[in-house]
Formats: sequence, C-alpha cells, structure tokens
Amino acid sequence: MASSSSGANDPGRSPRSDPRAPLPAGPMRMLARALRRRCLVCGGGGVFSGWFELRDRCPTCAMPFEREEGYWVGAMIVNIGAAQAGFFAFFIGGLLLTWPDPPWMLFLVGGVGLMIGLPIGFYPLSKQLWLWVDLLANPRGDAAAAAREVRRGPR
Ligand SMILES: [Zn+2]
Repeated sequence: MASSSSGANDPGRSPRSDPRAPLPAGPMRMLARALRRRCLVCGGGGVFSGWFELRDRCPTCAMPFEREEGYWVGAMIVNIGAAQAGFFAFFIGGLLLTWPDPPWMLFLVGGVGLMIGLPIGFYPLSKQLWLWVDLLANPRGDAAAAAREVRRGPR
C-alpha cells in the first residue's frame, strides 16, 4: 500500500524502453558474442543449458534473456527467415549449377531435409540473433545494469 512514485529509479525494475540506456557493448562485438553462443552483454559462457535451452538469465551478469512476455516470437521469425533463405540459396544455386538438366528428385529430398534440419540447427542462434536485434533497437535499463554489474564485479 505504501508505494512510492520513485519506481523509475528502482534497480530491481527496468523501464520498458529507455532510449538513453547505453548499449552494453559495440554492435559487432555483441554479434560476435551471439555467434559464439555467449552472453551478448558480458561475453560470459554457459548461457545455454543444452542445444535448445537458453537459461532464464546469464550465469555471469544475471541479464534476463526473455525480456518480456512472448519475447521469443521474434526469434521464431528469425528462424523461419533463415530456413527460407537457406532453402532458396540451395534451390536457386542448384538450378544455376545444374541447368539445363536439374536433378528434381535431389531438390525435393534436399529441400525437405533442409526445411526440417535448418530450423533445428539454427534454433539457438535465432534466439541469440533476436536478442542482438532487440538490444540494438530497444536498449533498456536491464542490459545496461547487467553490464555495469560486470564492470563493478571482482577482478
Ligand atoms: Zn552476461
């Protein structure tokens, strides 16, 4: 009942969007961390507990990975887009290389295999890439606070 109006400065609560919040690291550095399956904020490892299972928070800096309800819909879009790009690269590249006598059965079997295998193989990276896009487009206090904690932490 005794709620104060100083919620914006509460360290436990991050604002939904804060354009003034600094990026935790440079964009290319964060991308390199994403591609190496590391935390985008601090570069710490162990952010996945399995191939498919991204932890709730970074074990090093405690950055929350699911930044809001329904957050991973964006990662699904990244994953579907990557699977389609892979399929079209295979199909168009295959047509160009084998024209005028393309092996249609190979395209059919390879295409089905790609459309099943790519989303599975790319799944962890799709989450990391979505997090990268979201951190760049929508900096918030949560990432900045996690990065500050890492810098302040034991050396
Ligand atoms: Zn971290």
